[in-house]
Amino acid sequence: MASELRLSRAGLEAPFARRVEELSGENPYACYQCGKCSAGCPFADHMDALPNQVLRLVQLGDESALSLSAPWVCASCHACGVRCPKGVDIARTMEALRVLALRKGITPAPVRPDRPYPQIALIGAYRKLTP
Ligand code: SF4
Ligand code: SF4
Repeated sequence: MASELRLSRAGLEAPFARRVEELSGENPYACYQCGKCSAGCPFADHMDALPNQVLRLVQLGDESALSLSAPWVCASCHACGVRCPKGVDIARTMEALRVLALRKGITPAPVRPDRPYPQIALIGAYRKLTP
């Protein structure tokens, strides 16, 4: 007889995902990877990981998400959140990733010698999507 497999959010969730959720207010596990966010993102072509792929890394607790350029390319336009059938506002998730990266001292991916931080770092701080 096969052993019983019990799946629950408590058993699956990663500390990294919990931290991102705390900062963003968005539940990364609500995403079911339909891809509508990425299909409508005006900056997807410039990202090293699509918005839904960024969310997948967060779901898996993979902190390599902090080293991606995608959160720094994200313009916080909220087009993804409007399209998401699960109501996930990825702009807030992206900002949480930027905040965590800065707190951990991870250099933003598209850094330039004459600009220590991308412009979106200032825009994100101004909008204060993240507490
Ligand atoms: S649109 Fe929403 S549910 Fe679909 S992949 Fe994007 S975040 Fe996930
Ligand atoms: S908020 Fe960011 S990830 Fe979402 S559609 Fe706009 S640029 Fe893309």
